[in-house]
Amino acid sequence: MSEEPALFPVQKISVRAPTFRSQSARLICQNCHKDIQTKTDKNPSVIAWLSATVIALCGCFCGCCLIPLCTDSCMDTDHSCPECGAHLGAYRAF
Ligand SMILES: [Zn+2]
Repeated sequence: MSEEPALFPVQKISVRAPTFRSQSARLICQNCHKDIQTKTDKNPSVIAWLSATVIALCGCFCGCCLIPLCTDSCMDTDHSCPECGAHLGAYRAF
């Protein structure tokens, strides 16, 4: 009777990208495999710039046009690993 080749169980780990929000997220880094809290880097989204431009064009030069640039929900957020610095994902405002 021939010996059957050893079967290595193929573990299929679903590498589904986590859904990132504007807040820092806790997850396992895909690069260094550590349990980390993502480091977030916020930048005004295209929509924020467009809103700011529209508000400025409407005559609000007293600083109102800067509101979209400071609003959290209008910000794009990049998530990276604080341990290895790998870029893990991003949240796009719109
Ligand atoms: Zn990492």
